[in-house]
Amino acid sequence: MQLYNSLTHKKQEFIPHEQGRASIYTCGPTVYHYAHIGNLRTYIMEDVLEKYLRFTGLDVTRVMNITDVGHLTSDGDTGDDKMLKGAKREHKTVMEIAQFYTDAFFSDCKKLNIKTPDVVVPATSYIDEFIRVIQVLIDKGYAYESGGNIYFDTSKLEKYYVFNDFREEDLAVGVREGVEEDSNKRNKADFVLWFTKSKFDSQELKWESPFGTGYPGWHIECSCISMKNLGEYLDIHCGGIDNAFPHHTNEIAQSEAYLGHEWCNYWFHVHHLNTNSGKMSKSKGEFLTVSLLEEKGYNPIVYRYFCLLSHYRKSLVFDWDNLNNAVTSYNKIIEKTALFVNETSGDIDSMEYDRLMKNFTDAFDNDLNTSLAITALYDVLKSETNSVTKTALIKEFDKVLGLDIIENAMKANQGEEIPAEVLALVEERKSARKEKNFVLADEIRNKITALGYEVRETRQGVEIRKI
Ligand SMILES: [Zn+2]
Repeated sequence: MQLYNSLTHKKQEFIPHEQGRASIYTCGPTVYHYAHIGNLRTYIMEDVLEKYLRFTGLDVTRVMNITDVGHLTSDGDTGDDKMLKGAKREHKTVMEIAQFYTDAFFSDCKKLNIKTPDVVVPATSYIDEFIRVIQVLIDKGYAYESGGNIYFDTSKLEKYYVFNDFREEDLAVGVREGVEEDSNKRNKADFVLWFTKSKFDSQELKWESPFGTGYPGWHIECSCISMKNLGEYLDIHCGGIDNAFPHHTNEIAQSEAYLGHEWCNYWFHVHHLNTNSGKMSKSKGEFLTVSLLEEKGYNPIVYRYFCLLSHYRKSLVFDWDNLNNAVTSYNKIIEKTALFVNETSGDIDSMEYDRLMKNFTDAFDNDLNTSLAITALYDVLKSETNSVTKTALIKEFDKVLGLDIIENAMKANQGEEIPAEVLALVEERKSARKEKNFVLADEIRNKITALGYEVRETRQGVEIRKI
């Protein structure tokens, strides 16, 4: 499989460190609020990557952190501690907030058919490990104490800015607006590993450490959780593109300083979901969540389908018209599948099976081209091959796509107990059309519509469905 690697800035054949296995690390959510659907796009695409690697026969282990403490990175961080802000907003403790939004996150993931990673680690459960690794970084001369905090010294590295798809000057300054300079740092890019003194004095969660009572910085948690669970060599590190700098850059700095060798071979970054007014965020405009989609009557799976229609390395514009188009096209897939899914007679046509399967794997092998994979799905629906072959292919495809196609097609068939009255009208209309009495045919169609059904001529014959 060819995969674009942000580290080398090109597509590369994916070769895992250990033959037959693949280790994946995913940056998890900061659990102070609901995830917006822009965050969830990243998790959907990562899920598809994981499922495709499994599909190719690899034994995949995927690990994810939950940031329930320490998303702060320096004393210059923007105004608020998000966890604390969430707790104040809802009159709860920080841990109550963390638990509530962790559950909400996984509930959203379930609705989007995102598999829970094999290992999920809340940052608060790994404090001892963070302390141990920070101590090693101090001992090796990569970290220093200043103003009560422990900082990583980026000047000790030969190469710090690894993801130079971006210009270095863009990386170094103005990454986030409103970031104040932290005067304790020796170098501009240095970042906090452990806070004991912080302007966020009201931290609820603090731990004893050799560096003083305090709490960890954000970046250290991912390095530690990954190395502890997946070892010294990581195959793929995933995340949203906005994490490439500074978060992932700093993860590499710490991990490689700690290990003394290269750490992760492939970096997989999913690009933004934008609205027409710009990058989606929790603070701007309508707060788009899975619950909001449901309130508006959308099946969350359609949002997953919407994401699959675009390549993960392109930013994607979300608006309701685009989502409605995805609904129409998803329903078409379900309707077409419903036409043959219940037919079980016949044998699989292996020539056609292989040909159509190759379209699908070729799409994925080319840097996870999900939109071409959806085209491959349409190729199956359009194909002249028998129903059993089509059903078998779609079942396999959906192990990766996760669109509940077979289930929803079967449901559509079960749900279609069309009343005799409607069926009689459909027959009447057929005769009217045969006699070219289109006025009468239209009148009958209106009657059918009034009864809550839609009738359409298709190449496969007349289709009737509930409106
Ligand atoms: Zn991370």
